Amino acid sequence: MKIIPLLFFVFFVSCNQPVKKTTLPEMLATGKWFDLSHDFSVNTVYWPNNPTGFRLDTQFNGMSPGGFYYSSNAFYAPEHGGTHLDAPVHFAKGKWSADQIPLQNLLGAALVIDVTDQCSKNADYQVTIADVEAWEKQYGKIQDDAILLFRTGWGKFYLDVAKYLGTAEKGQEATTKLHFPAIAPELADWLIKNRKIKAVGLDTPSIDFGQSTDFKSHQLFYAENIPGFENVANMDELPATGAFIFALPMKIKDGSGGPIRIIAWVENG
Ligand SMILES: [Zn+2]
Repeated sequence: MKIIPLLFFVFFVSCNQPVKKTTLPEMLATGKWFDLSHDFSVNTVYWPNNPTGFRLDTQFNGMSPGGFYYSSNAFYAPEHGGTHLDAPVHFAKGKWSADQIPLQNLLGAALVIDVTDQCSKNADYQVTIADVEAWEKQYGKIQDDAILLFRTGWGKFYLDVAKYLGTAEKGQEATTKLHFPAIAPELADWLIKNRKIKAVGLDTPSIDFGQSTDFKSHQLFYAENIPGFENVANMDELPATGAFIFALPMKIKDGSGGPIRIIAWVENG
């Protein structure tokens, strides 16, 4: 009979123990950061028919009349090239521009679907519904509000333009010679109808494969306000699940995209 008051006492005391709250810096210290952006330079990859690339003009570099060192540049860059955002308005009239995408759609849990094997045998590979189903069999159903990243293995060719794009030629004609993998429109359609994802990204220049002429995956995703991240770097550093990414573009008013700094946090172990 005396055990009940004793249990109550133990319960009361344990409930009153001060619980040490983990702070955000403490929590973040248990993981590692990864940089998923290529740097912007004269080597930045753009579509072959883009008349210009990235340019950095020195405005001042040296000792100022005031006797202190001073450096300042001006940069110029097309929106779509290097590691960049495709805002939905890029292929869907009236949908979000770069400045309109809510912050919560640019950060979140990232799931990495690896299709390196398939792509290594076929530069024109398009990721299929079966690839995603196989991933889900191993790792579980794609969680709501996930950001889906497709790892094709193409990222390692980034500085070898002929290999990365399929051609090093420039101009309109060269766009017919593009060869790199991306997302099959059938998969884009399936993801929209069957899963709830916030954004998609991959380590190639476009979410539609090099030989695409209608850019159907762009049309499908962006009509649903699902943004795309292209030319994502260092994707081989990420686990299949457990990464949290921040993909923050330059906030260009009415922009159809723009350079983006993507970073990922992954818990140790
Ligand atoms: Zn783009």
